[in-house]
This record gives sequence, C-alpha cells and structure tokens, in this order.
Amino acid sequence: MGSKSTRMRQELEAIVGAAALTLAPVRDLWPLAIMEERAGREPWRVLVARPSGREQVASILRWAVAHRVAVTPLGGGSGVCGALAPEGGELVIDMGAFDRILEVDETNLTCRCESGVNGMALEEHLNKRGLTLGHFPSSLPGTTVGGLCSTRSSGQESSRYGSIEDLVMGLAVVMPDGTFAAPRPGPRSAVGPALHELWLGSEGGLGVILEAVLRVHRLPTSVMGRGYGFADLPAGLEAMRAIMQTGVRPLVMRLYDPEDAAFNGYDLPSGGCLLVVATAGLERVARAEAEAVREMSGAATDLGEEPWLRWQRHRFDLSAERLTSLLEPPGSYVDTIELAAPWTVLPDLHARVKHAISADGLALCHFSHAYEQGCCAYFTFAGARDTEDEARSAYNRAWEGAMTSALELGATISHHHGTGQSRARWVADEMGGWMRVWRAVKEAIDPSGVMNPRALGGVR
Ligand SMILES: Cc1cc2nc3c(=O)[nH]c(=O)nc-3n(C[C@H](O)[C@H](O)[C@H](O)COP(=O)(O)OP(=O)(O)OC[C@H]3O[C@@H](n4cnc5c(N)ncnc54)[C@H](O)[C@@H]3O)c2cc1C
Repeated sequence: MGSKSTRMRQELEAIVGAAALTLAPVRDLWPLAIMEERAGREPWRVLVARPSGREQVASILRWAVAHRVAVTPLGGGSGVCGALAPEGGELVIDMGAFDRILEVDETNLTCRCESGVNGMALEEHLNKRGLTLGHFPSSLPGTTVGGLCSTRSSGQESSRYGSIEDLVMGLAVVMPDGTFAAPRPGPRSAVGPALHELWLGSEGGLGVILEAVLRVHRLPTSVMGRGYGFADLPAGLEAMRAIMQTGVRPLVMRLYDPEDAAFNGYDLPSGGCLLVVATAGLERVARAEAEAVREMSGAATDLGEEPWLRWQRHRFDLSAERLTSLLEPPGSYVDTIELAAPWTVLPDLHARVKHAISADGLALCHFSHAYEQGCCAYFTFAGARDTEDEARSAYNRAWEGAMTSALELGATISHHHGTGQSRARWVADEMGGWMRVWRAVKEAIDPSGVMNPRALGGVR
C-alpha cells in the first residue's frame, strides 16, 4: 500500500473505526463490466467505508472534499448501468449499516426507513401489517431503498402504485459539504418545487440519501389474474391502451411479444402475443375491473388463470446470480434495455429495436409499466461470439442501434434502470436544454465534483 493510501486509510479510520474499513473490488451488475472482467480486466480494489450514523457520513464527505477523493455510495449493488464502478484511489460509502425501519404509521399509511434497508425485507415487514409498498423491481431481494431512489426505479406493480417518484414523500440527505436536509411535511407541499426529487435518479451524484419517507398501501383483499392470447402485437397494445385509458388500474399488466412469450414457456399460436393482467382491490372492484379487461381484450383468446399463476411463480427469476451465470461462458453477451414511448410510437419502436438487437442472437420484448399515455418496452438480447472482442462489438452495436432508434423516435432511452456509464453517450441527447439545469445543480451542490463521477454518464 502506498503512503497516500496508508494516510487515507488512517484518516478514515479516525472517522469510522478500523473495523468499518475494507479494501475490496466493488461494482454493480453492468453486463459490459462483467464481460470485461471475464476477459481478464482485473477489477479495482477500493477502500470501502461502512459508516454508522449521520455524523460519520458527513465527516467522510467533508474529508473526501478536502482531499478531492471521489466517493460513491453503495446500496445493494444490483444496478445494471455501471453507475457503481469506483477506480483505484477512490472511496465507496457502504450504506449497509443504515438498515433500520424507523416507523410504520398504519393510520396515515407512511413508512420512514433508512436508506440501507433491503427492498424485500421492507416489503415483508409491511406485509406482516397488512401493508405493501407496491414497489417490485424484479431485483427486489438485492436492492436497498437508497439505490431504488437513486436510480429512479420502477416495479412490476407500477401501473397501480406508480414508480419510486410516486412513492417517495420525502428524503433525508447529506450533501458533500456535510450539510443535511430532512424530509419536509407531507402529504404534499406547494412551498416551491419538490427538491428532494433531484435525488431520484441522481445515481449518488449529489450526496448520500440517509432516510426515505414512503407512501405505503393496504394490501388488496382480492387479486384476480388471467392471460389473453392476441393474434398480433398491435392488437395487444391496443387492449393495454384501452384498459389504462378507461381508468382501470391493473396490479400487473404485461404484454409479451411472440418470442418473449415462447421464451417464457407460454404456448401460443404462431405470431401470437400474451397479455398477463391482474386486477386488485375489494373483491367486487377487482371482479368488475377484470370483466372490463375481458371486454377490452375483444377477440383475444381467454387463456384462464394459468399464465398469471405462472408469471407469479417466476416473477423474481431473473436474479443477479442468473444474470452472472448467463455471462460466464467466454464470448457470451446478454443485457436488457428498457425504453418508454407514447402508444402511437410503440409499434415502430418495437420493430426498429428488435431489428437492431437481433443481429446474431436472442431478441425478446415485453411491454409493462403502462400509463394512459404509453408504456415501457423492455428488450432482452443475448448472443455468443468466438472472441471477447467480437462479443463486445456485437453488444455495443446492439446498444447503439437501440439508443439511436429511441432518440430518433422520441422515446426515452431509459424507463427505469438509469444511465450510469451504459448510456453516457446519449444522456445529453435526451436531456437537451435540461442538461444546463442538471449541471447547475451539480456544480452548486458538489462544486469539487467528488460525488460519484459516473452518475448520469459522468456529465458535469
Ligand atoms: C436481474 C435484475 C433485474 C432488475 N430489475 C429491475 C426492475 O424491474 N426495475 C428497476 O427499476 N430496476 C431493476 N434492476 C436494476 C436495479 O436493481 C435497480 O437499479 C435498483 O434500484 C438498484 O438498487 P441498489 O440498492 O442495488 O443500488 P446500487 O446498485 O447499490 O446503486 C445504484 C446507484 O445508486 C447510488 N446509491 C445507492 N445507494 C445510495 C444512497 N444511499 N445515497 C445516494 N446514492 C446511492 C449508487 O451510487 C449507484 O449510483 C434490475 C437489476 C437486476 C440485476
């Protein structure tokens, strides 16, 4: 260890204690980083501090500013965009010790918890009280509340409960100069803009989230799910649009294109698409909405309950372990790209992105996270090449094609994974004039630029 890193370690030891400091490789689950590691690029070993208490976080940040050392907060490490990719000489703040659920208010339906609380542990804690956060990213068991906020995440039940921005009422944050901002009163305020929202999606670029105040919901007393087979994609998308625009708020609604339906083991006539949809609430409400869904599915084939039951059994199957194991064979590549667009754009977006990502392998798409105005198109692609270089090129070409298509068609380049390094080249294209606002905020809050240099593609 060099004298600079010895000094760094000693000074941080004085803040958090020796037992709360380790030297370790840290990264998220960005497939390109996993592929590069597989090809022999040794991961950086960086100093990881595990503070307990707000004062320790503030002291670490002040220390980082004084020494111009880049610092990245670590949640569950389940991000998929390379936002978490510290290099040698940088510092990581592991928020794992901030794992307390501080209060569940069963009358006002709020929950206050620390940012290191695991997403699934929180959901289970709420379920025991007949409540739910209603936030179910497929990666939930590997996430933390801080990470869910910082990536602007969205879950499988977002059509009913909304995404993280709809669930967060307030945040407690520590800024790089060590100053603190607490959650403001709820349930809503018109005292200026909702400034805590700047932290939702900022990927650790503005400071450290310590706590969140979240809206929670009573668990629905009844849930009814079914599958419908559509002759083609436009018919399935039309049904989704009609369902949302009639005011039905399904708990889950996902339309699988023919390839994705077949890949997931659903048996449909050739070219057919599968809509899995569940309604929820009081029994009579869930039933009435289920009937409305059936009506709006028109000529689709009613496939009964089985597709819904099957989806439930497999809803968390795409885990970190599964993703990592898919990337084990040399030359293999796999990733997912989640875009969002208005209903009128989705058919073109589907055709263009499928074409771009299916050059030499698997290409799947499903539609979920529906709004009255449009929804998310979630693409999966995978393939294998003879060499690591060729695999990387094929992977990069797929991304280039998908991002270019999204921008040309007016779709967003990310519905819920965020940007990190994976979308660095395209962030400014989507943000346009808003880049000036982001830069001004970043410059004002983090003038020395120590907070996660890879947040939002590293744009300052
Ligand atoms: C198999 C798989 C499926 C997935 N499915 C979904 C999905 O359905 N929906 C979805 O939205 N995402 C999904 N993701 C992506 C990922 O789980 C989310 O981005 C999640 O929100 C990351 O949370 P985390 O705690 O793991 O954050 P991390 O990966 O640890 O960090 C993510 C970013 O947040 C920052 N950060 C973390 N904690 C804090 C804090 N306390 N203060 C400030 N900054 C912080 C980090 O610096 C980093 O920039 C999936 C990932 C995988 C691997």
